[in-house]
Amino acid sequence: MISHWLNIIKKTGLTSAVKDDEAKRIMVVNSFSFITALLCSLYGVLLSVISGQWIICYTAMAFVSGFFSILLLNKKGHYPLAKFGLTFVFSAVMLYYGILFGEQTQVHFLGLFLICVPLLVCSRREKALRCICISLPIVGMIMLESNYYFGVFEPMMLSASDSNLFRWLIMSVVVFLQGLVISFHQSSIIGLLRTLHVRNDALKLSRDDIAGKEAELQTAYHKLENYNQVLEEEVKQRTHEINESRIVVESILHHLQGNHEELQRKDMLLEQHVSELESLKASLIEAKDEAERANAAQSTFLREISHEIRNPLNAIIGISYLLLNDRRNKNKIPRSVVDYIENINASSHGLMEIINNVLELAKIEAGRTDDLQIAPFHLGEWVRGVANIYQNAAKIKGVSLQVQVDPQLPEYILGDRVHLAQVLNNLLANAIKFTPGGRKVHLHFHCPDADHWHIRVVDEGMGIPKEKFPLIFQPFEQADRSVYRKFGGTGLGLAISRRLVELMEGRIEVRSEPGEGTAFTVILPLKQGLLAPQAFQLPAKKTYSAVPTDKKVLLMEDSEVNQMIMDRFFANLGLQLTIACNGEEGISKARQLLPDLIVMDMHMPRLDGYDTLRLIRQDPLLKHIPVIAISADAFSEQQEAALMAGVNDYLTKPVNFDRLYEMVKKYLQQQALHRELA
Ligand code: ADP
Repeated sequence: MISHWLNIIKKTGLTSAVKDDEAKRIMVVNSFSFITALLCSLYGVLLSVISGQWIICYTAMAFVSGFFSILLLNKKGHYPLAKFGLTFVFSAVMLYYGILFGEQTQVHFLGLFLICVPLLVCSRREKALRCICISLPIVGMIMLESNYYFGVFEPMMLSASDSNLFRWLIMSVVVFLQGLVISFHQSSIIGLLRTLHVRNDALKLSRDDIAGKEAELQTAYHKLENYNQVLEEEVKQRTHEINESRIVVESILHHLQGNHEELQRKDMLLEQHVSELESLKASLIEAKDEAERANAAQSTFLREISHEIRNPLNAIIGISYLLLNDRRNKNKIPRSVVDYIENINASSHGLMEIINNVLELAKIEAGRTDDLQIAPFHLGEWVRGVANIYQNAAKIKGVSLQVQVDPQLPEYILGDRVHLAQVLNNLLANAIKFTPGGRKVHLHFHCPDADHWHIRVVDEGMGIPKEKFPLIFQPFEQADRSVYRKFGGTGLGLAISRRLVELMEGRIEVRSEPGEGTAFTVILPLKQGLLAPQAFQLPAKKTYSAVPTDKKVLLMEDSEVNQMIMDRFFANLGLQLTIACNGEEGISKARQLLPDLIVMDMHMPRLDGYDTLRLIRQDPLLKHIPVIAISADAFSEQQEAALMAGVNDYLTKPVNFDRLYEMVKKYLQQQALHRELA
């Protein structure tokens, strides 16, 4: 309990804001004040009792209140004032009692204690306060000594024993207080030592820590050194490698340099080659242009030659036809002349075959082979038509032509009737040509399986040596020179036939024994024609059925021979023909006459066929009139051009009168029908 109260008194005025050092100093001030107050009260009473002088007690009580005032100052937080107050009250006590009790009591020794107190209660920073507090007891001691010396105030009258007792009592207080100061200093020194010890421990720890860190640094340094060594090794290795690579790169560069020079040399060579190639290309283009020009010239030449030959041939065939078929000549021409006319007619047909073959070959070589015209046709009638043509020639030569058709073959076949006839014509013409009189030529049509049909022409002629087989299918090639001398020919028939058969996806085979005969077999894919034939059919006999005879026909033709032939042809049909010598005259006559049909030559003076046709098609009176073109232009593109220009039909010269008849009949019947409907 007492210690509790003592503790409260000791800590008077302390707050949490006060630092530890300052708190200690405040506690010293409080302790000194409180202890001195107790001593002062005790001694005041005790000395008053001993001396019988109660003034001592009263003044002691005043000093006690002074000491408690110091506690009050600390309580209020006036710490420096409290420190000053402590030394001031102590100095006042020393001065007062020193004067009062006199020199013998040796109160001034209290000054020695007082000089030590400021060192205890003032911090190093409170220098001024410390100086003041130290100077206060010194001043007090000087004043006390001066008083002793000069005797300003007389001391209290004390007996020698009291004086002695007082001296011992005061000395004991001085010693106690001095001991208290020393003990405070000691505790402060111990605290300092403790702090030093703690600091020392901390320093030790931090030194250990530093040593550990140093060891770590040492290890890291060793590691770094090792790493450095490794790095150096690696750098050395890399440098070595780089040096080696550099050597390789240098050698590659050197090599590339060599290659570059080589390339430059080759580049120059290439440039030379390119320029050579370019000049070659230029000469090739020139040669190509030359070839194209030559080709065009050849085509023009062929067209013109064909045109020039066809016109006179038309006259020969037309006249011989009319001589043989004109009703007015019936029974008037002697038999021998009829034979001549028949020969003329047959030879003209032969000549036409040659022209057709030459044109066909020219077209094949120019790469302009006509597309196949596939249509169903009646096999029997087609065979009869082709065979009839050659029966006459065979008969003249004394060769027997025997035709045999396999009953397995369908009635209608799908194929190109015209080109097939061209192939068969060539084979039959050769067979009859190379077979001596009195022997036979067989023409077989048979069907070995469901997918193929064969046309076989077998003769009993001179035959062909085996080594010549490849040769005879080449254009302008014949088996033997003697063949030409004896039989003539162009060497084109088989070449064209093979080309046409290949176009029809078939092939030609030949077998022959020299001196015994030859067999040509055309093997073709069999396609049955399901539809009735659309194209014309050769009539078995040349008997023309009636055409509407009240119709007017206008012929535009400049050749007088052709005019004459046409005139007789239409007269035979019972039709009246009006003739115009050129296009201009033809247009004016057409406007006067308004004919039912116009037959027109495409090559006429003044106004040619194309211009005339254009005028007809532009004229409202004439534009509906059908026009049949008759021309010696036998090329398909020429026919197409005429059809595009507006002709209704096209016939090449020499005129096939049977076809002309069919066309005339068709258009006149159509006209009659239109009139009736109108
Ligand atoms: P050309 O009959 O106009 O000479 P082809 O091309 O038709 O031309 O015939 C070429 C050649 O093949 C003939 O010249 C002939 O030597 C030979 N040749 C063709 N058919 C027969 C045949 N039936 N008998 C003998 N030789 C033939």
